Amino acid sequence: MTHVLMDLPFDENALEPVISRETLQYHYGKHHATYINNLNGLIEGTQYEELDLAQIVVTAEGGIFNNAAQVYNHNFYFKGMTSEATVPSKQLVDLLDRDFGSAEAFKETFLKTAAGLFGSGWVWLSVDGSGSLVLESFSNAGNPLLSGHTPLMTCDVWEHAYYIDYRNARPAYLEKWWELVNWDFVSQNLEFYSESRHGFIDPCNENSDLCDYVDSIEKVEHSNT
Ligand code: MN
Repeated sequence: MTHVLMDLPFDENALEPVISRETLQYHYGKHHATYINNLNGLIEGTQYEELDLAQIVVTAEGGIFNNAAQVYNHNFYFKGMTSEATVPSKQLVDLLDRDFGSAEAFKETFLKTAAGLFGSGWVWLSVDGSGSLVLESFSNAGNPLLSGHTPLMTCDVWEHAYYIDYRNARPAYLEKWWELVNWDFVSQNLEFYSESRHGFIDPCNENSDLCDYVDSIEKVEHSNT
């Protein structure tokens, strides 16, 4: 399987002023695209060529794991943001109340965890094996699939996610990023989990025709210059 770059679910300037067009041009057009290219190059002629993205994430190591997980994580991150106003479903609010005390307490814990993650990494809200919501932070390309959890939402705290717009001020990025969370996406992930009980299936990771993809990565790269 050749992995393809998902289309951004919004215009490059849609998230301004929170996340600038320039940041997206680099973050999506360069970093995300590079992970795809690297992954396709690395799996050529290996057993991983036959696997879908999530299967590679949970079985590979080293460079193949790093690039596959970064593709998965960035698909999740970009699909988890919107400039439109959204709210969490009642099901999600109820679980946030149960497991974090309140939606407000969850926000506080999430942002504090993200601000406190040392170095590059990702913060995730997931469902664990017992059906509880858990907050986890991982360095580098870390991902909750490895611990058998079902991911619901994520925030990228690598510097490339915010350095152009916020320089070193990660907490300022996080506070503003919260305004972009696509609660429809998070709520839908929870709903899928509840219905299937076997975790989140990302249709883009199967290269299915349910998702839009870019025709050529080179075109995205050229539009950035
Ligand atoms: Mn990133």
